[in-house]
Amino acid sequence: MEKPIPVSQPFLSDKEERYVLDAVRSGWVSSKGAYIDRFEQGFADYCGVKFAIAVSNGTTGLHLALAALGIGQGYEVIVPDLTFIATANAVAYTGAKPVLVDIDPDTLGMSVDAARGAITPRTKAIMPVHLYGHPADMDPLRDLAREHNLRLIEDAAEAHGATYRGVRVGGLGDCGVFSFYGNKIITTGEGGMLTTNDPELNRRARILRDHAMDPSRRYWHLELGYNYRMTNIQAALGVAQLEQIDAFLQRRTDIAQWYRQYVDTSNSVRLNHQAVWATSAYWMICLEVDWFNASLRDKFMAFLAARGIDSRPYFHTISEMGLYQAGDNPIAAAKSVIGVNLPTYFELTEADVRRVAEAVNQGLRVLSSQAAA
Ligand SMILES: *Cc1c(COP(=O)(O)O)cnc(C)c1O
Repeated sequence: MEKPIPVSQPFLSDKEERYVLDAVRSGWVSSKGAYIDRFEQGFADYCGVKFAIAVSNGTTGLHLALAALGIGQGYEVIVPDLTFIATANAVAYTGAKPVLVDIDPDTLGMSVDAARGAITPRTKAIMPVHLYGHPADMDPLRDLAREHNLRLIEDAAEAHGATYRGVRVGGLGDCGVFSFYGNKIITTGEGGMLTTNDPELNRRARILRDHAMDPSRRYWHLELGYNYRMTNIQAALGVAQLEQIDAFLQRRTDIAQWYRQYVDTSNSVRLNHQAVWATSAYWMICLEVDWFNASLRDKFMAFLAARGIDSRPYFHTISEMGLYQAGDNPIAAAKSVIGVNLPTYFELTEADVRRVAEAVNQGLRVLSSQAAA
């Protein structure tokens, strides 16, 4: 069989090796050290925000953001139904209730109308997700948040460097949260970052990240806090990755272009939508086939797997898993069974994409005759 093509793969060069080795040799292997400061400052500059707070992963970053904003028991936070489970779980960790709403069929981001319809007197925040690297429509969401005095938190875990009306994500609401898991746009192994322009939120998040220790009195803890710190070793990886992010994003844009060139989209097949007001980070190539159902989609992924090509299904809707309240979100439900993510990573070549596209086209031909029968 030809060489296997994974769905995702980190790009780690000798730069990462050098910086990590440097961190190890410096002795600063825990959560103090020069790389932490460099990574936080570099990431803040990159996102065009005043503050960036490095954390242990994206999930703890989301929880920290919510906690620092004072969200807890008795409150509701609106989140989209089609996302990674961490978005809703982070809300639940605070004691607040995640309220799951439908998505926009093009951007796959939170539907503004659905969010408006879900606001109650208990609603405290809206947390849109820039799913698969495409920004949610932030201006109307910001207007909605202002109108109802709600906090606006971007789950930007999948969208480093994506832009909304020319502005990078992460500073479009009260705060943004990024993930540096191994399959994200840049990685620190595990890791995350909270971004904000709000000095008070920055101050609170830094205190809560460190067990709410009083900054002027050691081992005096002001309230219930957490250990959500990032290590200097992780940050060394992060600094190296951040220095290459422009090339990473350019390659992802090229990859999207290659898929558009080689995948046959004539038979109700769609690739990533990109709104006129956005540039996607193309975290994952998205293939949607209108005539798919869950079983045809599984057969399609097995067809690719037999040819050495890894793929992954769209997320399940959160409401269908029973952890949270059942939701009636038809667009999210429909998308979750017709969507497949195709290989998207820095070292994927045009020839690789052509090979994937040929398998995709062939698989869709075989299955469409089955679907018609
Ligand atoms: C990856 C991801 C997270 C969580 O990040 P971790 O670093 O894995 O904890 C949160 N939200 C979304 C949308 C994600 O894709």
